[in-house]
Amino acid sequence: MHTERTMTTATPSQPGLSLYPHLLAPLDLGFTQIKNRVLMGSMHTGLEDGRDLSKLAAYFRERAVGGVGLMVTGGFAPNIAGWAKPFAGTLATSGAARRHEVVTQAVHAAGGKIALQILHTGRYAYHPLAVAPSAIKSPISPFKPFELSARGVERQIRAFVNCAVKAREAGYDGVEIMGSEGYFINQFLAKHTNHRDDAWGGDYSQRMRLPLEIVQRTREAVGPDFILIYRLSMIDLVPGGSAWDEVVTLGKAVAQGGASIINTGIGWHEARVPTIATSVPRAAFAWVTQKMKAEFKAAGLSTPLVTSNRINTPEVAEQLLAEGSADMVSMARPLLADAEFVNKAAQGRSDEINTCIACNQACLDHIFVNKLTSCLVNPRACHETELVYRPISELKVQRKRMAVVGAGPAGLTAATIAAERGHEVHLFDAAPEIGGQLNMAKVIPGKEEFHEMLRYLKRRVETTGVQLHLNTAVNAADLQGYDEVIVATGVSPRDPRIEGQDHPQVLSYIDVLRRKKPVGGKVAIIGAGGIGFDVAEYLVHEGHSTTLDLPAWQAEWGVTDPAAAPGGLRPEGPQPTPPAREVTLLQRKQGKLGDGLGKTTGWIHRAALKMKRVKMVGGVNYERIGAFTDGTNPAWGLLVSYGDKRENPTWIACDNVVLCAGQLPLRTLADELLAMGRKPHLIGGALEAGELDAKRAIDQAARLAARL
Ligand code: FAD
Ligand code: NAP
Ligand code: SF4
Repeated sequence: MHTERTMTTATPSQPGLSLYPHLLAPLDLGFTQIKNRVLMGSMHTGLEDGRDLSKLAAYFRERAVGGVGLMVTGGFAPNIAGWAKPFAGTLATSGAARRHEVVTQAVHAAGGKIALQILHTGRYAYHPLAVAPSAIKSPISPFKPFELSARGVERQIRAFVNCAVKAREAGYDGVEIMGSEGYFINQFLAKHTNHRDDAWGGDYSQRMRLPLEIVQRTREAVGPDFILIYRLSMIDLVPGGSAWDEVVTLGKAVAQGGASIINTGIGWHEARVPTIATSVPRAAFAWVTQKMKAEFKAAGLSTPLVTSNRINTPEVAEQLLAEGSADMVSMARPLLADAEFVNKAAQGRSDEINTCIACNQACLDHIFVNKLTSCLVNPRACHETELVYRPISELKVQRKRMAVVGAGPAGLTAATIAAERGHEVHLFDAAPEIGGQLNMAKVIPGKEEFHEMLRYLKRRVETTGVQLHLNTAVNAADLQGYDEVIVATGVSPRDPRIEGQDHPQVLSYIDVLRRKKPVGGKVAIIGAGGIGFDVAEYLVHEGHSTTLDLPAWQAEWGVTDPAAAPGGLRPEGPQPTPPAREVTLLQRKQGKLGDGLGKTTGWIHRAALKMKRVKMVGGVNYERIGAFTDGTNPAWGLLVSYGDKRENPTWIACDNVVLCAGQLPLRTLADELLAMGRKPHLIGGALEAGELDAKRAIDQAARLAARL
C-alpha cells in the first residue's frame, strides 16, 4: 500500500525540486521507497541475449547514477515457449539468476532500483514453438501457435512464478508482468484471440483468470516485500479489443491480487494506430491512465498507477503528475537519449537534457533487424563500455586547435565532444543558424521534436565552450593554423537532369522548406525517399500539425474512449481532414513507395499520406516538364512514361514540380584541402550521402571526436 506523496522543498543542490515537485517526490510502497516518480519503461536492447550481461549492467548503472527511481529491464522469457525469438534472454534457473547478479549489483551500488520484466510472447513469438490460448496466427509472425491444453496453461503460469522467484534470487527489487501490447496474457483476455471453451476461455471472468492467477501466485511465491508491477493493456487499439469495464475489472482485481504498481500498456503490436512515433502528440494516452485513476479512487484503491507513451520532458511529466493523471511516469526511450535526465531536472538543468525525438531510428528499428539498440541523439546508449569520451587531461593527450566546418548534426556533435574533452574547437557555418538540414526537418508537421534536438545542440555549444562562427563560409585558405580539420559540410541536392526543369514552377525541397517559395494547389513530387515523403506531408497539411492537436490526431487515426467503443477504435474509422493540396508522389523504382523508410515508422508515413489522398506512383520515367494541351485547354505539368519501353506517356497536370531526387556529398572544401596536401577528417554527408541520416552523421562524429 503506498502512502501519499510527500512534497520536499528545493535545496541549493536540487533547485529543480521547486520546478518539478511531483516528479521528484519519493513514492513510498510501504516495504520500500522509490526515490522519485520516474519509471524507466522496459525496452529490449539486444544486450539481454547471451550469457554475459556485463554490458547490460553498464547500461543500467549509468541510468541509476543518472537518478532514475525504478528501472525495468527488457523482457526476459519465463520459458522457451515464451521466447520472442530463438535463444532470447530467459530467466528460469538459478544458474541464469547468478548471471543476472552483475546487473542488480551494479544498479544497487549506484543507488538505484531495478525490476525484471517477464515477457511471454505467445502468438507473437518468432519461432515454431509458440503457444497461445487458441491456434490463431498473428499478423506479425509467420508462425502459427499451438493451442495450449489446460495442463499447458498451468505450466505457463508456473513458469511466470518461477521466473519471478529467480528474479528475486538474482537480486532484483521486483518484476514487471507483461500483460499488454498483445502478448500472451493479452491474448487470453481478448475474444478474437481466445476461442477456448474451457475454464480459460468463454466469458470475461474466465478469460481474465490467467493474469489473476499469475499475479496472485507470484505474490505468494515472492513474499510481500518485492515490487510486483503489472502492465495492464488499458486501450488495445485493435478490433475486438477489451471493453472499458473489462479493463477496469481486471485492473482492480490485479491490484487486490497483489500488484504493487500498475503500469499502462497502450495498443497491441498489431494495432494500426501509431502509439510512440514522433508524430504522436506528447502524452497522447495519459487520459486513459487518468480514467483508471478515477475508477481506482472511487473504489478506494491506492495502488500507484504509471502513465506512459510519448512523455519526453520533465515539464510534461510534472504536469501529468500535478494534475493527478498518474502516480508515476514511464519513460523508456528518453532515458536512452539521456542517462542523466532525472539528475539534470533535479539540478535545474533541464535545458541540457538530450531529448528523445521519438524517431525510433536507432532503438526500435534496430531491434527489428536484430541489431543492438542505440540512440540517434546519443550513440553511447548501449555502447557505454566502448564509446567513452575521456578528457584529454586523463589520457595525457596534447590539447589541439581544431576547426570543424559545418554546423549540421555531424559538425555539432564532433565539435562539442572534442571541446568537452578539452580541445580548442572552432565551429564554422555559412548559415546564420546552427543545425544544417535539421532546420528543414523541424518544419515538417509531425517532426516538431527536431526543435528539441536543436535546442540541446545549441546549449551544448555553450556549455562545452565551442567557439561558434556563423555566417562564415570557409575555404581551404581559411584553415591555416589548425592541428585538425573536420569537414562536415553536408550535401547538395542531386540534379535529376529532366528536360524543362529550369522552369520557375520547378522547385527544390530547399525552395519549399527553407526558402518558403509559394506552392500551388496541385503538385508533383519527383523522388519518394525520406525527403519526398516529408515534403508531401508538409504540402498536404499546410501548417496544421495534428501532432500539436490531440483531438484532431485522435480523429485522424480513429481513436476514441474505450468506454465508448471496445478497444478504443471509433466504429466509423479514421476521419482525417481533407488535404490542403492534391499531391502526386513519384519514383522510378517499381514497387511500394517508401520501402526504405524506417521499419517501425514507414507504415505510418504511408498510411498518413494515403489518408490525405496522395497518389503514389512507382515505375515511372520522367520524360519532360512543360506546357501541354489538356483536351482543348492549355496546361502545364510533368510528362511521365512507364517501364523500360517508355510506354503509356501520361501528363500529370500540376502547378509545381518539386525535386526530391536524393543528395550528393558536398566536398568542395575537402577537395581543396586534399589538393593542398592536408588530411581533413570527413564526416556525415560530406563523406557519403547515400543512405545518410542524422543517426549515421552523429554516430560517425561522436566516434571521431572520442579518439582525437
Ligand atoms: P548538414 O545537416 O547538411 O549540415 C552541413 C552544414 O555545413 C550546413 O549547415 C551548411 O551550411 C554547412 N556548410 C557547407 N559548406 C560550408 C562551408 N564551406 N563553410 C561553412 N559551412 C558550410 N535524418 C534523420 O535521421 N531523420 C529524419 O527524420 C530526417 N528528416 C529529414 C527531413 C528533411 C526535410 C531533411 C532535409 C533531412 C532530414 N534528415 C533526417 C536528414 C538529416 O538532416 C541529414 O542526414 C543530416 O542533417 C546530415 O548531417 P550533416 O551534418 O552531415 O550535414
Ligand atoms: P533518398 O532516400 O535516397 O531518396 C531519393 C529519391 O530520389 C528516391 O525516391 C529515388 O528514387 C529518387 N532518385 C534518385 N536519383 C534520381 C534521379 N537521378 N532522378 C530522379 N529521381 C531520383 O534521399 P532523400 O529523400 O533525399 O533523403 C536524404 C536522406 O535523408 C536519406 O538518406 C534519408 O535517410 C534521410 N531522411 C530521413 C528521414 C526519416 O524520416 N528517417 C526523412 C527525411 C530524410 P528512384 O531512384 O526510384 O526514382
Ligand atoms: Fe528516442 Fe530516436 Fe533515440 Fe530511439 S533513437 S531513443 S526514438 S531519439
